[in-house]
Amino acid sequence: MMPPTFSPDPSSLRVKSKISDRIQAIPRSGIREFFELVLNAGDVISLGVGEPDFATPWHIREAAIYSLEKGQTSYTSNLGLLDLRKSISKYVAQKFHVTYDPTKEVIVTVGVSEALDLAFRALLNPGEEVIYHEPCYVSYSPTIYMAYGVPVVVETRAEDNFALRAAAVEACITPKTKVIMLNFPTNPTGAVMDPVELQGIADLAIKHDLIVITDEIYSELLYDERDHPSIAALPGMKERTILMHGFSKAFAMTGFRLGYACAPPELTEAMMKIHQYSMLCAPITAQVAAVEALEHGAAPMEEMRKAYWRRRNLVVHKLNAAGLPTFQPGGAFYAFPDIRSTGMTSREFATRLLEEEKVAVVPGTAFGKAGEGFVRACYATDETQLAIALDRIADFAQRHRR
Ligand code: PLP
Repeated sequence: MMPPTFSPDPSSLRVKSKISDRIQAIPRSGIREFFELVLNAGDVISLGVGEPDFATPWHIREAAIYSLEKGQTSYTSNLGLLDLRKSISKYVAQKFHVTYDPTKEVIVTVGVSEALDLAFRALLNPGEEVIYHEPCYVSYSPTIYMAYGVPVVVETRAEDNFALRAAAVEACITPKTKVIMLNFPTNPTGAVMDPVELQGIADLAIKHDLIVITDEIYSELLYDERDHPSIAALPGMKERTILMHGFSKAFAMTGFRLGYACAPPELTEAMMKIHQYSMLCAPITAQVAAVEALEHGAAPMEEMRKAYWRRRNLVVHKLNAAGLPTFQPGGAFYAFPDIRSTGMTSREFATRLLEEEKVAVVPGTAFGKAGEGFVRACYATDETQLAIALDRIADFAQRHRR
């Protein structure tokens, strides 16, 4: 019998050396890394993963089931089912007041995740720069980098309600800038955009001939009677904007893996070329379900939004009362408390909270360096569990106050 080997397997080292430098250089997502710890921690209340606790509304699931019963199991057009593109076009026109031709300005993708990848690959030559705001969704920087672009960060600050200022964007523009990337309401802060600053950014895009990508994935989840204009609808912007949206958050359809991008025909065609060779099309079952979501999903979506709104109020109140200053998010389903009063780093706070109180939150640094001193708590969580988690966080903060 062969003796057990304890030294690193030379064949695995050889294989590792074959992986491209660019992929070796990318770290794993800070969220995923942290959640390996959570899995080993046993019975934990998770405010971690940014995913609705609701199952997809039944009428949407039923549409998916019925489509399978009817034997709808084929590929679709590369751009997606025309019926779905028509529904998307109608929905986007009603919601954002900008119209897209469903035959050549809409592409259905495997989530906003794929839309981001397609857009950056379609737009960027090596070394071209994308300006985006941090703290932000974990995928932006690596997706830009994998498309050979250069991520350029504008940091937003709690003291300024995590607002993005046009002047800060302007300060980052160089001859290599090609894209400005926006996400409002923002993951992980829940920040919303000031209309004056939005217009300022549109003016910059026009003046410097830049493309804007706007990730609208949380745009239904707004609180306090807030309006949410998309930059795509401002004068002169439709022709230079890629509007991305999806079904994961507001319709609670994360597992369906469906999203879309609306863009001028030339950009849609360029994204379609990549999609056609890498993905072919999004799954038909999810596409059929998405038509149902867009056509008849408004009422259940509103019920879920109201539940998130109630939870937001509870979470912000309790965290502030616990001595963890928390900005009142205008949208999405995240709170981003300031944990500096404990003297811990974000990672230490999240790790010790997990060990001592069995509550999982994500270190703010998973969303960029500007997230140091903060953690993200997702309140798309059952209300009873959420209340218990908040009590435990308060005990923890009290025990560790400096
Ligand atoms: N954009 C933002 C801002 C997100 O927070 C997420 C998921 O958390 C995504 C995109 C990915 O969405 P999808 O499930 O549509 O790929």
